[in-house]
Amino acid sequence: MKVLVIGSGAREHALCRSLSLDPAVTALHCAPGNAGIAEVAELHPVDALDGAAVSALAAQLDVGLVVVGPEAPLVAGVADAVREAGIPVFGPSREAAQLEGSKAFAKDVMAAAGVPTARSYVCTTEAEVDEALDAFGPPYVVKDDGLAAGKGVVVTGDLGAAKAHANACERVVIEEFLDGPEVSLFAVTDGETVVPLQPAQDFKRALDNDEGPNTGGMGAYSPLPWADPKLVDEVMETVLQPTVDEMRRRGTPFSGLLYAGLAITSRGVRVIEFNARFGDPETQVVLARLQTPLAGLLLAAANGTLAHLEPLRWSDDAAVTVVVASHNYPGTPRTGDPITGLDEVAAYDAPHAYVLHAGTKRDGDSVVSAGGRVLSVTATGGDLTEARERAYRAVSRIRLDGSQHRTDIAAKAAGA
Ligand code: AMP
Repeated sequence: MKVLVIGSGAREHALCRSLSLDPAVTALHCAPGNAGIAEVAELHPVDALDGAAVSALAAQLDVGLVVVGPEAPLVAGVADAVREAGIPVFGPSREAAQLEGSKAFAKDVMAAAGVPTARSYVCTTEAEVDEALDAFGPPYVVKDDGLAAGKGVVVTGDLGAAKAHANACERVVIEEFLDGPEVSLFAVTDGETVVPLQPAQDFKRALDNDEGPNTGGMGAYSPLPWADPKLVDEVMETVLQPTVDEMRRRGTPFSGLLYAGLAITSRGVRVIEFNARFGDPETQVVLARLQTPLAGLLLAAANGTLAHLEPLRWSDDAAVTVVVASHNYPGTPRTGDPITGLDEVAAYDAPHAYVLHAGTKRDGDSVVSAGGRVLSVTATGGDLTEARERAYRAVSRIRLDGSQHRTDIAAKAAGA
C-alpha cells in the first residue's frame, strides 16, 4: 500500500516513522513534511490546507490511503476533498471536525450524548461574560470558541485577566474549573466501531512545575502508572462510544481519530475538550508503544471495517518524549538556528531513543530550526525511569542556540 501523510510536525514524523515500519507500506509520501520526515518519506511541497491540491497529489501518486495529521486541514475540508476523489482517507469531514473546531458545538454534542464535562456558558456579550464568571467564581476558565492550537484558553484566578481574554474573543465559552490530573485518550473510529489506544499525559505549560504560559505541548509519557486500570473501559462507555453514536445520529459521522482530553476529578472523569486528530506530543509516546501495524489500523477506520480488526497489541515498554523548543517559544520563536548533535543520538542512543522533527528544515548540509517546537526527543525503556533517562541523555547531545525544554517530563509519574 502507498500512503500519503499530510502535515509537517513531530506528530506527522511519528506517524511516518510507524508507517515506514509497517511491512504493508510499499511507498510513503508526506506533504509538506520537514527535514526529519524526509529521511523516511518522499516530500511534496503541497499546501496542506488546499483540498484540491492534496487530492490531486494523492491521485497522481496513486496512494491507497491519505492520513491527515493536523486540525487545520480537517476543518478546511481536506478529508472531504480526498474522500470525494474516491481515495480512502483517515480523518473526519469538515462537519465532524467541528467537535474540535467549535467548543460550543462540542458542548452541545456532549449534552445530547450525556457525556460528563464541565458546566459551561457560551457568551457573546460583556454582560453574559460577567454573569458567567460570577456564577462559577475563581479559578476562571475562559475559552475562545474557535480553533486556537491549544492556546486560546486562559485559566486564571485574576478576574481582570479573565475578562480581558473573554472580551478579546468574538464568542467565548466560560466554564467551571476542573481539578485533578489530565489524561489524553485517543480512539480510532470508523464512525461506528471505536478502538481506544493507550492513555498518555502531556505537559502544556512552558516551564518546569507547570509554570509559564500554555503551549502546544512540551512533552508526554505513557503508560500512566497512577491511573485506574479501568479508566479506558470507563471512558469508552461514558465518553467515546456515546460521542461517536451521537455524531452518527446527527448525520455527521465522525471517522478518524477522536482525542478526549480528560480531567480525573474527585467527582469522576470529565471531558475537558475533544480534538479531531492525533495529539502532539502524545502521539509520539503512544505510537512508540503500539505494536499493531499502523497502516492497517488507519485503513480499517477509513474503510469502515474496524469491527473486523484483531485486538491491538502493545509493548510493555514505557515511552517518554521531551520537546525541544526555540528561543522565545511560545511567543514569536527565533528560527534559522543550526541544530547539531542529531547524528550523535543516532549513533549512541538508537534504537531506544530517537529524534522526531517538528519545526526543522534543511539548509545546505545542515538542519536549522524553522518553528516554535523544533524536536520531539522520544525514548522507550523498561519503565518510565529508564525511558526518561534515555530521552534526557539524547536531549543533552543536541545543540540549538537559545533552545529550551522542560526537565520534569514524567518525573512525578516515574517517582523521580
Ligand atoms: P483546551 O484547549 O480546552 O484543552 O484547554 C487547554 C488547557 O487548559 C487544558 O489542557 C487544561 O490544562 C486547561 N483547562 C481547560 N479547561 C479547563 C477546566 N474546565 N478546568 C481546568 N483546566 C482547564
